[in-house]
Amino acid sequence: MVEGDGDLRQDILDLLASRTVQLEEIVDLVHFLQKDRQPGLTKEDCRESILRVLSKREVQYALLVGIQLDRLAEKGLVDEPLLTILREDSPLFGIDEVLALAITNVYGSIGLTNFGYLDKQKIVVLARLQHEEQELRGQVHTFLDDLVAAVAAAAASRLAHRYGESQ
Ligand code: MG
Repeated sequence: MVEGDGDLRQDILDLLASRTVQLEEIVDLVHFLQKDRQPGLTKEDCRESILRVLSKREVQYALLVGIQLDRLAEKGLVDEPLLTILREDSPLFGIDEVLALAITNVYGSIGLTNFGYLDKQKIVVLARLQHEEQELRGQVHTFLDDLVAAVAAAAASRLAHRYGESQ
């Protein structure tokens, strides 16, 4: 797997923060996913795993593309009919989940299982993004919620693989 560059990882963290998502919120998702399977897991372990995931070039590119589309839709700079589809975050759209798979695939099938679980549960930061989209008119997080869930799912899968190898 190709490592991306560190500068781009910082750009991604800044970009997530500009879209209201803090690293610590993703840490909470990873800890939630993995804590029962991995006794002694710390938030620091989760944070380190997320940073490793965010170092992968394919992860960085998926985040750049998805967040850019959200921002363009927010500004009305996407042509119809896609603009309305993105603004309404239609459950039948599905391309947001497809893009997120580019991230979950990096760490194998556990990543997919974790992602599906988060997609259904909509906990903490994921619930907040959905709430922001519904309550604050004009906010588009169609791609962002899936991308954040995918980063958390991939980071948890990475921990699971490493933990499995150490047993
Ligand atoms: Mg979505």
